[in-house]
Amino acid sequence: MTPSILWFRRDLRLGDHPALLAAAGEGPVLPLFVLDDDLLAPSGPARTAFLLRSLRALDADLRRHGPGLVVRQGRPEDVLPALVRETGAGAVHVSADFGPYGAARDERVAQALGEVPLVRTGSPYAVAPGRLHTKGGDPYKVFTPFYRAWADHGWRAPAGSDPATVDWVTAPGADLPDEPGVDAELPEAGEAAALARWDAFRGTPYDDIRDRPDLDETSRLSTYLRWGAVHPRTLLAGLDARHTHDQVFRRELAWREFYAHVLHAWPGTARAYFRPELQALPYVTGREQRRRLDAWAAGTTGFPIVDAGMRQLLAEGWMHNRVRMIVASFLVKDLQVEWTHGAAHFMAHLVDGDLASNQHNWQWVAGCGTDAAPYFRVFNPITQGVKFDPDGAYIRRWVPELAALGTPAVHRPWTAGPPEGYPAPMVDHSIQREEALAAYQLLRRTHA
Ligand code: FAD
Repeated sequence: MTPSILWFRRDLRLGDHPALLAAAGEGPVLPLFVLDDDLLAPSGPARTAFLLRSLRALDADLRRHGPGLVVRQGRPEDVLPALVRETGAGAVHVSADFGPYGAARDERVAQALGEVPLVRTGSPYAVAPGRLHTKGGDPYKVFTPFYRAWADHGWRAPAGSDPATVDWVTAPGADLPDEPGVDAELPEAGEAAALARWDAFRGTPYDDIRDRPDLDETSRLSTYLRWGAVHPRTLLAGLDARHTHDQVFRRELAWREFYAHVLHAWPGTARAYFRPELQALPYVTGREQRRRLDAWAAGTTGFPIVDAGMRQLLAEGWMHNRVRMIVASFLVKDLQVEWTHGAAHFMAHLVDGDLASNQHNWQWVAGCGTDAAPYFRVFNPITQGVKFDPDGAYIRRWVPELAALGTPAVHRPWTAGPPEGYPAPMVDHSIQREEALAAYQLLRRTHA
């Protein structure tokens, strides 16, 4: 029988997989992953290592039912037509990709395949980007009405794909490359690990803990969602809308969907300002920019919660959401470094690094995105630490130089005499805040 190719991308799982169901409905299935240099280039070693581990886990899962994952290296528009010619495959099945790179790549592949169809079934989202519009027919720019429309629209039940019932076939392939060296301690990869993580998280009083980095009890599912080791539909199906914690968690999942929807509607905003008028704000450049960025990235700014967050990023390839907001605000407003540099650092180090969520959260913090926090709202890095890490446990965990300090000194180490090896604050927050506000007022007057 003519086989179909199932080309895995951001859907590295076998359960709840509509494209697998579609492929299996046509006959034998050849599971493929393409190592595409263009896609791997912006990824830092931690995300690349996690991807390779996810592929190994997928291969092991496939081998329980058949010959395993076929890996090829090259440009997908070359690799796919070549494999179709070799195997006589009648179709290539994928989960649709709505990111700017993925969508353009898929168009090229569809062209290169000619008569053989590229069949898109499902996506990495509960509601595919581009499906929801305002009453006027425009894409949503504001989260709350998007959220209402998204919840009203609803989503399908999880797809009942079952790898045990599939006739898996194979073709010659390459070995997976060795992992790059990584210092970060990464979570276990693969679908079983994602589902175990989800099971462990369910029942957490999410709304009470979600802003507390010291408690560290958020789901940590972002990395699995990034690679599609679990589909958001599987998570949504397990929530009970009558419970506050489940409602709040559902709303967080909707932020991921919102930003994918925004990037799909305005693909240029992966790099360009969503509110271009804010592009004229003054930022430091040259050597001074480098000096500030380096201290921020290394976690040596002298602001404890900022340094703790930046060190967690290096150690785990992940950072708590509240702390992501604090460090991002600090870079843009206190250090006056343009958001694009911080976003690039995050994309290089985050294992969950996702273009839509990352760039648009950065734009939100910088005040130039959708639904943006007003530019004049400047986070105070000290009071944020006091509020969300009240006992200083998060700071002590990631900044060992401060481990001996009690509370409240751990939030203001300079009041306890300079601790050995820990830097003095690199800027005066109140002065930087005034400068940021003055620049903003000037810009508003210029554009009035
Ligand atoms: P939970 O609190 O358990 O939330 C559950 C899920 O909801 C998350 O896994 C995620 O899929 C989604 N979610 C929650 N908050 C957000 C949000 N603000 N935006 C989009 N989705 C959200 N998330 C990424 O997945 N990739 C990124 O590259 C990324 N970059 C960010 C950059 C900045 C500057 C900021 C402020 C936030 C960023 N986020 C990003 C969003 C958020 O910080 C992470 O999704 C979250 O910390 C992941 O941890 P968790 O899975 O335990 O989250």
